[in-house]
Amino acid sequence: MTKAFETTNRFLQQAFDVLDLSEEEVILLETPSREVKVELIIRMDDGSMGNFIGYRVQHDDSRGPFKGGLRYHPQADLDHVRSLASLMTWKTALIDVPYGGAKGGIQVDPTQLSLAELERLTRRFTQRVHEFIGPTTDIPAPDMNTDASVMAWIFDEYSNHHGFNPAVVTGKPVDLHGSHGREAATGRGAMYAIREVLERDGRGLEGTSFVIQGFGNVGSWAAKLLHEAGAKVLAVSDIKGGIYNPDGLDPLAVLEHAYETSSVVDCKNSEPVSNEDLLELECDVLVPAALGDVITEENAADIKADYVLEAANAPTSFEGDQILNERGVTVVPDIYCNAGGVTVSYFEWAQNIQHFSWPETRVNAELEKRMIAAHKHIRGLKNKHDVSLRTAAFIGAIERVREATTMRGLQ
Ligand code: GLU
Repeated sequence: MTKAFETTNRFLQQAFDVLDLSEEEVILLETPSREVKVELIIRMDDGSMGNFIGYRVQHDDSRGPFKGGLRYHPQADLDHVRSLASLMTWKTALIDVPYGGAKGGIQVDPTQLSLAELERLTRRFTQRVHEFIGPTTDIPAPDMNTDASVMAWIFDEYSNHHGFNPAVVTGKPVDLHGSHGREAATGRGAMYAIREVLERDGRGLEGTSFVIQGFGNVGSWAAKLLHEAGAKVLAVSDIKGGIYNPDGLDPLAVLEHAYETSSVVDCKNSEPVSNEDLLELECDVLVPAALGDVITEENAADIKADYVLEAANAPTSFEGDQILNERGVTVVPDIYCNAGGVTVSYFEWAQNIQHFSWPETRVNAELEKRMIAAHKHIRGLKNKHDVSLRTAAFIGAIERVREATTMRGLQ
């Protein structure tokens, strides 16, 4: 067992301690159900052979089919995928969608592959795991470096083996059985999450300043929606670097610039800032919306924000989290903050199964309702047990999974 899964389990342990779980229950709740490792060999465009490794970890399905994204990243090793699969179990339980948790990953730097190579890799992965996924068993979705096109290829390849069935993946293109509002859902959910947390503290989004690390699907949508809600986005970044304007950036202009140049770097009306320095900028809310493990014991003491909004999965190390808590920084935990994505995935799946399509207004309203309800639930548990928002969120999730596990019984 190495670091990422261990970190997730250390966070879980804080909630297990409060709930006073037996050793048997801890084993039952922590251990993944199934881990699939596949070799992916494809023909590269230059005629050479490409050899990659892919994973699908199915963590828990006591509340419903396994559910979770598929990530393309050099760091998507078994340890990380396992940790992310576990987080999905707690996320789906907390937000109360009828799923368990899973995650997939292919260890690859997708920027080094052509579109055709990415398609072949995705289809090969689907060929290798198609027996393990399905609309009532395990439903993949987009994650880091995967998008609606990747989901369309999985849907197509899966249908070649099992017949037409769009409900096998979520996050599909809207014109191919996807859902309105799914692309923006994680960023929108994060916006609702911080709005609820701020309101409880007698503050609002209007005029509140945000610094966002990451300008992919989650970071860019969060920036746009927060800006629309009256917040000030002071800085954003991507893998190439960051940009900063103490008076506020215009996320739409940044999006346009990023679309044209493939990076936020050098956008007009901004000064450059490194990814590391960006985390330590003066602001009200810091939003890690990219990789995991970026707030650690190295920098947690230097973070100036009052709130950390975990739009990414597992952006804070265990030690980093302890330092933030000691310093009174409010951490809005990942399993709540970024649950908007899987929530709208659930709406997409439900629409697919009913062969029906919802307008975006309905999607957003249902998402908002669930984010508000989950916040109330977490807040109640936080007060009851006098714990951090993260431990409260885990407690709420564990109680639901534990109950389902108990009701289904052990043979
Ligand atoms: N990859 C997203 C997450 O980490 C979405 C998962 C899903 O929609 O199934 O929550």
